Amino acid sequence: MEIKKGIAVSPGISIARALILDSEDYRIPHRSIETSQRPTEIQRVRNAFKSAIGELTELDKAHGHTEGSKIKDIFAVHMRFLHDRSLRKKITDLVQSELVTAEYAVSTVLREIALHFTKEKDAYISERAADIYDIERRLLIQLLDKKREDVGHLTEEVTIIARELSPIQTAGFNRKFVKGIASNSGGRTSHAAIVARSLGIPAVVALEDLTEYVSGGDTVIVDGNRGIVIVNPDQQTIQQYQEYSKEFAELEHKLDEIREKPAVTRDGVKIKLLGNIEFPDETETVLQKGGEGIGLYRTEFLYLNKRTDPTEEEHYQAFAKTVKVLQNRPVVIRTLDLGADKYTQRKRFAPEPNPFLGLRSIRFCLQNLAMFKTQLRAILRASVLGDVRIMFPLITNLHEIKQAKMILRDVMEDLDEESIAYNRDIKVGIMIETPSSALTAFSLARDVDFFSIGTNDLTQYTLAVDRGNELVSHLYSSADPAVLRLIRTVIQDAHKAQIDVSVCGEMASEPEYIMLLLGMGLRTLSLTAPMIPEIKQIVRSVTIENCNKVARKVLGMNSERQISSYLRAAARKILPEAF
Ligand code: PEP
Ligand code: MG
Repeated sequence: MEIKKGIAVSPGISIARALILDSEDYRIPHRSIETSQRPTEIQRVRNAFKSAIGELTELDKAHGHTEGSKIKDIFAVHMRFLHDRSLRKKITDLVQSELVTAEYAVSTVLREIALHFTKEKDAYISERAADIYDIERRLLIQLLDKKREDVGHLTEEVTIIARELSPIQTAGFNRKFVKGIASNSGGRTSHAAIVARSLGIPAVVALEDLTEYVSGGDTVIVDGNRGIVIVNPDQQTIQQYQEYSKEFAELEHKLDEIREKPAVTRDGVKIKLLGNIEFPDETETVLQKGGEGIGLYRTEFLYLNKRTDPTEEEHYQAFAKTVKVLQNRPVVIRTLDLGADKYTQRKRFAPEPNPFLGLRSIRFCLQNLAMFKTQLRAILRASVLGDVRIMFPLITNLHEIKQAKMILRDVMEDLDEESIAYNRDIKVGIMIETPSSALTAFSLARDVDFFSIGTNDLTQYTLAVDRGNELVSHLYSSADPAVLRLIRTVIQDAHKAQIDVSVCGEMASEPEYIMLLLGMGLRTLSLTAPMIPEIKQIVRSVTIENCNKVARKVLGMNSERQISSYLRAAARKILPEAF
């Protein structure tokens, strides 16, 4: 029995056999093949080249860079290699002579070439090694795709064990069979964790070397409440956990009963609880859990599981589905937040050195206008079906708001010309998730209808701590006085400007923060659906007067530790079962 401690990111208990997922570094099994499999493997090599060429051609087209640009050159180099018959022959020869899999042959041949290049004195040639590794990855993605799809076709219950999980891998998990998730890396607000939470799958991340202790088929307990993973537990431990799991399920069931009750504090203040979603079919779950609408629709997920960009119609259908289910309840559609951990970096021809500080989110949209406009058209078209609002993510300055709104107006004009209906008075808001936007909230407030505070990124950027990096996860806390001061400023500035303000980061899903957030003046929270009942229970158990006291006390403290333990103790008094 091996007990590992990590970070609890999605509540619940699971006991199931391990399924190990290969991570992005594509470890290649040196798997021999039978003589009879040779033609199949050779064909797989050919298909992989063909698909990689197709993908590259699409990317090249989509980017539309000018002739002679550096990026165009990189594409051309990749293309030359992929079209090189002698390269392909070397790989298929290896399959033929050594009886190895297509993956192994691709990797061996390309790594040999790369190594050869690295040794060259000429800088131009030695730099080509990076291209070769990239081409290797490109081909392996094609070859290994089938294995990833297999996770979507499970027939028995499993615990997914991985070194690292991407948000889109996680989003593809079938919750009927994937009972628990445990990974070596990740943080509480990394997107894979957020997705696990919205799927309601217990998950623990940041387990360091967990994968070295688990083999496929081992029994694994995932305790998503306490952040513990137990590999090959003894009988007594299994029994204890089965009982604990039953108690937890009963608590959840009890909480579900308050679904129909209003989210009103004991002293009569109404709190609006909205849900965060990534896919339209989560809308029903938000309503079932007692949510009153959608406060954050992370639309970029439509992109992440597709090889080609979604069309305007695909965007529209996704939005229309959500809006129709909501029947005039509000939905805040956040425009594309691609980039950082939510851009399939494998699609990039040159990965960014600092993707979280790079071309992500609204910056990416403002440089990819065709893509941005396609989405805006779809949102506007859906706006006649219900209460649709638009939200721009990762705003850092006023200029970005002005640009984004100008593009929105352009799109409106296009729709006018085509006589397509939309809501001309659609509300436009922004996410406050950078220190710069928080510190200038007073001026940004004049140009928007609402703010939504994205505490996941705001915490990351304020404290300069990567939200997904387990090595610094002990430094990542929204209870840090610096983060709290910024949040308070934003709320005050929104109130002064008389615009709506909410929190849609994970802070709003965490029981210990609720009294503080209400005490700082928030009346709208948007959170992951499974947590709505618990948060509603807290809202219904407190008075605003008491929350104000908590906020005053906390804002006078100067240490994160002191704040965290004070908030935990305060919440424990309100809802002891949750802790
Ligand atoms: C946030 O940053 O708090 C947020 C809600 O956006 P995301 O988690 O999608 O980055
Ligand atoms: Mg964010």
